[in-house]
Amino acid sequence: MTSLPAPYRRTVNDSGISVSPIAWGMWRSHGSVDEVATLLNTALEAGIDFIDTADIYGFDGENGFGDVEAKLGEVFSADPSLRQRITLVTKGGIMPPLPYDQSREYMQSALEKSLSRLGTDMIDLYLIHRPDILTHPQDLARFLDDAVASGKVRAIGVSNFTTAQIEALSGFLDTPLSATQPEISPLRIEPFDNGEMDQAMRLGLTPMAWSPLGGGRLMRPESERDRRVARVLGEVAEELGVDRAVAAYSWLMAHPAGIVPIVGSQKRERITEAAQAMQVSWSREQWYKVFTAARGASLP
Ligand code: NAP
Repeated sequence: MTSLPAPYRRTVNDSGISVSPIAWGMWRSHGSVDEVATLLNTALEAGIDFIDTADIYGFDGENGFGDVEAKLGEVFSADPSLRQRITLVTKGGIMPPLPYDQSREYMQSALEKSLSRLGTDMIDLYLIHRPDILTHPQDLARFLDDAVASGKVRAIGVSNFTTAQIEALSGFLDTPLSATQPEISPLRIEPFDNGEMDQAMRLGLTPMAWSPLGGGRLMRPESERDRRVARVLGEVAEELGVDRAVAAYSWLMAHPAGIVPIVGSQKRERITEAAQAMQVSWSREQWYKVFTAARGASLP
């Protein structure tokens, strides 16, 4: 049985941006500026330099919308070298309680505010967070192309878009999309056969997997299905000599689309441990064993 290769660095489509094959995400970031700095340094020390945030992160906390970006901005301001050492991903297009607005006027203002909070003059990868049904893809494409032409954004992508929505947006863009960010994990396997990963490979999009541990349910299973998948993943993890979380990240990374799992933990030791996934090789037999457990039925 051939082994699937352990992946190292990734290039984000034809943007030329080189990133670690694992990202660290800040959705669950609730700590102080010092704590954010500590976790960012932990990620960097572990070899993770692809950092995912969004303007909405922290909106339900003490300081509201933009809080996580603002804290990250303070971290950069205290140590500007950190901004240079990472590939910074942020997202816009959700404005609670609206919920979505991707009109050109709104997006231009959202981007300016993100830049200002982050204290940077350029976002490496700017994603549209969730599709706004009321915006014509031609208008969204115009905003994205202008953002790249102005030098405020280096590369562009989408999150939670269907394949048809990506196709429509791509048709109006001059700048090719570089990334897509769907939810993918052993608990959410639809992107493997609903066309999302096929489209990512055809267009060369870097797939960034959000909730790679199913929001933590792979570690603390809630349903019967969660328990089954976690058990089988745990069996293979033992064979591979790693923790179940590391097995989940590396299972995603073994896919030929070059999936980048976004580690959601806000604990130093777990971020450090996640980097072990860069060294894990899966056999086809092991990979399909987890896939089959997730499907709940054997393969035809
Ligand atoms: P996740 O890794 O699936 O879940 C993280 C949760 O699992 C945290 O509560 C974490 O707790 C827990 N966890 C991690 N390792 C654990 C372990 N070994 N044992 C027990 N619990 C463990 O990822 P996520 O946070 O849901 O999402 C990851 C990132 O994806 C986010 O930060 C964000 O950047 C991105 N995201 C994007 C979207 C989108 O719409 N584009 C949506 C959601 C998320 P601790 O912190 O205590 O370790």
